[in-house]
Amino acid sequence: MGTTLNRDANAPAFDAALLAGLQHLKEHYQYRTRRVKEAAEGPEIEVEGRRYIDFSSNDYLGLSGDPRVVTAFRRGLGRYGAGAGASHLVSGHCQPHHALELELAAFTDRPRALLFSTGYLANLGIASALFRRNDTVIQDRANHASLVDAAIFARARLVRYPNRNIGALERLLSKGRGGRTYVVTDAVFSMDGGLAPLVKIAALCARHEAVLVVDDAHGFGVLGADGAGALNQLGLGLGEAPILMATCGKALGVFGAFVAGSEPLIETLIQRARSYIYTTAIPPAMAEAVRESLALLRREGWRRTHLQTLIKHFRAGARRLGVKLGDSHTPIQPIVLGHSRTTLGVAALLRRNGYYVVAFRPPTVPKGTARLRITLTANHTPAHIDGLLAALTEIPCAVS
Ligand SMILES: *Cc1c(COP(=O)(O)O)cnc(C)c1O
Repeated sequence: MGTTLNRDANAPAFDAALLAGLQHLKEHYQYRTRRVKEAAEGPEIEVEGRRYIDFSSNDYLGLSGDPRVVTAFRRGLGRYGAGAGASHLVSGHCQPHHALELELAAFTDRPRALLFSTGYLANLGIASALFRRNDTVIQDRANHASLVDAAIFARARLVRYPNRNIGALERLLSKGRGGRTYVVTDAVFSMDGGLAPLVKIAALCARHEAVLVVDDAHGFGVLGADGAGALNQLGLGLGEAPILMATCGKALGVFGAFVAGSEPLIETLIQRARSYIYTTAIPPAMAEAVRESLALLRREGWRRTHLQTLIKHFRAGARRLGVKLGDSHTPIQPIVLGHSRTTLGVAALLRRNGYYVVAFRPPTVPKGTARLRITLTANHTPAHIDGLLAALTEIPCAVS
């Protein structure tokens, strides 16, 4: 931050144009910088020589650093080497991938699951396999960028409704159009932690013969009695929500993603999803790590219970201290401050106090709603949260 870009008069015209674009981002507090993480251990991270309590990771259950997950990864490396060697359809589809798919299908109570290399690629894959040009893809305006990109990539007709606005969704569904209609939504909105009204959305889809696509990146592992996600929590099965996508890089703490659904759905994805076909399979050792993580996620319900306790602790403390709160009962607890510049300043102050919190700014969130995106994980203790809240109360604009 704050470094002025060199507008060298001799720079080629192309670079000059790029520099002007970068300068524009800086002037609007939209410039993003990367900080180098040097170590991660439980809720602590070391970034550029300083240690922090991390309130920015999506490792909701604290499984990423679990010794058993790490050991499974290492064992997999010994057996399979570092990489898959090829894409799934060439020769990269290994036994750990296959076993993981069976386990994910069983866990989500769906006939089949298909492993993708990332969630971004899974969403592009759903779109490239299913969305045709005269189809309509209706999306919540707060959906993850990968879902928006997926519809654009497939050149389907993309229409969006205001966040969680069921009335607006119904009006869009009532408009007769050629082709098939898909309704696509995050289950838990990644920037505010709120839940989509999935039961109502599913009922509307049934009434209007639209196909529901649910991205449960942030609910999988966290929601539902045994962690099987938002759909499981709400009792929505294959009939109501035929296409479920979730990732292995968040609550599972590793990497990768999957789509779960019917036999014909998965077979269609294998045949047609370009982001499945034309990319290298994730390392099989990594799939072994995900398998171990999934087993722990299922077996160790205390992680979810502890997380729920922390969420309540955070919300009660914030309310008591007058810290601004969003309306979220998930591990994502946003504090909306409005201006990007203010939010960056508050995040920097928190870091100075030893708390790693990240400012999320437009275009990732709507204009004027820059926020701290605080995430809680099973690695935290109530004392960590009390410390963060105490630091927040020292900052005038964080309290209302
Ligand atoms: C993180 C995320 C993705 C992308 O998953 P990756 O595996 O990180 O590519 C997709 N959808 C949502 C809602 C996400 O939060």
